[in-house]
Amino acid sequence: MKNFLSRLAAPASAPEGGPNRREFIRNAGLGGLSLGMLFDGKPEQELEYITQKVPRDSKPADLKITDMRVAILSGVPFSSPIIRIDTNQGLVGWGEVRDGASANYALMLKSRLMGKNPCNVEQLFKLIKPFGNHGRAAGGVCGVEMALWDLAGKAYNVPAWQLLGGQYRDTVRMYADTPESDTYEGFAANIKKRKDLGYTLLKMDFGIDMLADKPGQLVNAGLWNINNQYGGKPSPIGNYGLTKHPFTRIQVTTKGLDRLVEHVGKVRDLVGYDIPLSADHFGHFDVNTAIQIGKAMEPFRLAWMEDLVPWFYTDQWRQITEAIDTPTLTGEDIYRKEEFMKLIDAHAVDMIHPDLASSGGLLETKKIGDYAEDHGVPMAMHFAGSPISLMANVHCAAATENFIALEHHGIDVPGWEDIVTGAKPLVQNGFVKVPTAPGLGVNLNEEGARRFLKKENTWFAPTDVWTAKDSWDREWS
Ligand SMILES: [Mg+2]
Repeated sequence: MKNFLSRLAAPASAPEGGPNRREFIRNAGLGGLSLGMLFDGKPEQELEYITQKVPRDSKPADLKITDMRVAILSGVPFSSPIIRIDTNQGLVGWGEVRDGASANYALMLKSRLMGKNPCNVEQLFKLIKPFGNHGRAAGGVCGVEMALWDLAGKAYNVPAWQLLGGQYRDTVRMYADTPESDTYEGFAANIKKRKDLGYTLLKMDFGIDMLADKPGQLVNAGLWNINNQYGGKPSPIGNYGLTKHPFTRIQVTTKGLDRLVEHVGKVRDLVGYDIPLSADHFGHFDVNTAIQIGKAMEPFRLAWMEDLVPWFYTDQWRQITEAIDTPTLTGEDIYRKEEFMKLIDAHAVDMIHPDLASSGGLLETKKIGDYAEDHGVPMAMHFAGSPISLMANVHCAAATENFIALEHHGIDVPGWEDIVTGAKPLVQNGFVKVPTAPGLGVNLNEEGARRFLKKENTWFAPTDVWTAKDSWDREWS
């Protein structure tokens, strides 16, 4: 749009074939008036005048946010608070707070958004950006940003990927998260289901927790509750799930490494070598053990090994990446481009893995992808939400050149795709067709979504308690 406007400022005597401002103004019926005079320097109104013959449902220059409400879905497979932003022109924007995060992280932003034009996405993102942080704390900012793109696209009658700069692809490759099972047969069935559905890239979880059943496979694990990576009951020396990897001092013995090799070998036999196979959730151990496991896995040509140590240990990541030949990857909890830049600048990982619902939304994630692309680093994307967030990811993936594949955590959830309207299936043979409908390209389907409404929760109830702004937010003096 900027380029288009700057062309209008070209001299009347533009070279042949180039822009001719006088002719444009005559055609536009403005006579001797300049557009700037007519609109008193307001670019939104000027743009609206210029594009008035483009079909759309609203007057973007006058679009204003009038309300924000939420409905919390659960079992999606995790909790997924859905955001609805209303406007003065009847347009509704949909967004989603990241899986497992509080809906209040979005609601607290309402007072900053009321009365604002949702089409100024980047400007509004800067306004709410201070209220996000790494992991789930970014869920509100990112969910709101998704809803702003939905509104901007609907207001201008274009898909979000078009507003991000256009598309590199019209289908987006999904990769299938494959849950563990109590039995090998159960896990094999999960793998087979994904292959049969046509997925072309798989991810499995395997880690040191599977070594706890027999003696002699782990060192210093007995004092930890290593079967619970996500918190749970603390052991006498601390909470394993909340203890950062280097501080557990757990090691894997040669016997333990052999067992992991045997397991991954059996999975490779199931999957074959035509399909890329990545791995995640190894457990909490230090950089030396990470390297030992990484080296042991080299014969299986894994697509990547993920989150071997926390993302913020940049030097440790570089150590691992330099020591093993399997590609390394992290990033699903990182908020903002600046933190990805540190990893990329340090050559600390082979690939990045933002979760758009934590990394900053569609535009920030595209910027992250573009920075990685400039440094020859590919971008896979983490995702574990509903089809609303799926579509936000799909638009970003379509508009970012170095994109590889987007995660799917909802494969085993019945009715998952019914949460939204539009043509089904959304995911076919492991790919999503990039929508051409305006905004995110889907709307919430009340009937399908209500089936997931979290028990004892309300359906987009009024949220007046969040309307008044009562803080001075400037970050500098
Ligand atoms: Mg992960």
